[in-house]
Amino acid sequence: MSVINMEQLLCEAVDYAKSFENNGEVASYIPELSYADRNAVGVAVVANNKKIYKHGNWDTLFTIQSISKVISLILALQTSGAEKVFSKVGVEPTGDAFNSIIRLETHHTHIPLNPMINAGAIAVVGCIDTPFAFHDFLELTRKLCGRNNIILNEAVYLSEKATGMRNRAIAYMLRTEGVLEKDVEHVLDIYFKMCSVEVNALDLAHLASILANDGVSIFTGERLVESWIIPIVKSIMMTCGMYDGSGEFAMKVGMPAKSGVGGGIMCMSEENLGIAVYGPSLDAKGNSVYGLRILEYLSKELNLHYFAGKSTKEYY
Ligand code: GLN
Repeated sequence: MSVINMEQLLCEAVDYAKSFENNGEVASYIPELSYADRNAVGVAVVANNKKIYKHGNWDTLFTIQSISKVISLILALQTSGAEKVFSKVGVEPTGDAFNSIIRLETHHTHIPLNPMINAGAIAVVGCIDTPFAFHDFLELTRKLCGRNNIILNEAVYLSEKATGMRNRAIAYMLRTEGVLEKDVEHVLDIYFKMCSVEVNALDLAHLASILANDGVSIFTGERLVESWIIPIVKSIMMTCGMYDGSGEFAMKVGMPAKSGVGGGIMCMSEENLGIAVYGPSLDAKGNSVYGLRILEYLSKELNLHYFAGKSTKEYY
């Protein structure tokens, strides 16, 4: 058995990422996001031996953005069940940008293609069947991230609410098609708030470790996500979690993952490693440029690719 110095490996992964030119841009279509430091980079890993490893700007706070789509999907499945949720959203990759509107008109069913793009996530928020959806979302986020003082970044929320016209267009479209049954502005308000919750890389690594460990916290042994939900969420992350970069990410890194325009990416190995990276400089598809390189490096060095050959097993 090989012994791995994880702290050392994380340093190497960051150095590897930094050895490439930072050719991305910080998201600016939500004005408040544009203040992030484009050279920031951090990584955190929560391992199944309860050890935590971190490097660089692992504790910098940033908004969760689209990574919230994983938590809202869990909450919708927990409160409404799979049948209801998947009558409002599909599970197919789009090949289009995360904020694309086009398939709502041209696709034969008029339901958004998957829960990891904006249209799908807005439809999913409409399925959260609790009286105080954002409150419950925040509570679940705190539990899954293992930090009970996680809060909303008010400035980002207001910035997003003021400028999110494309999301508004998507939501009204979903309302005309009967996909959204609730008040559109109310659903959008929850969506904007969810995206504006502030986390760091360690929070997301913690969340990832719970998804890696069948919904159970490795620290407390408490079940936080029902077991039947885990394969649904992870397979959708694998096929759709990196938007129109999902196929390339699956090929190069090979783990279920979810990114956000705040600069975070979280992903998880089969062997119960929760991994998260932060780097707000984004490529054209909205994925962290440093984050992609770090995950590529870790996947290769630790042989984490789901479809790569693992050690031979014997069956009898
Ligand atoms: N709040 C962002 C939006 O709606 C989330 C998008 C993202 O992270 N890709 O545009």
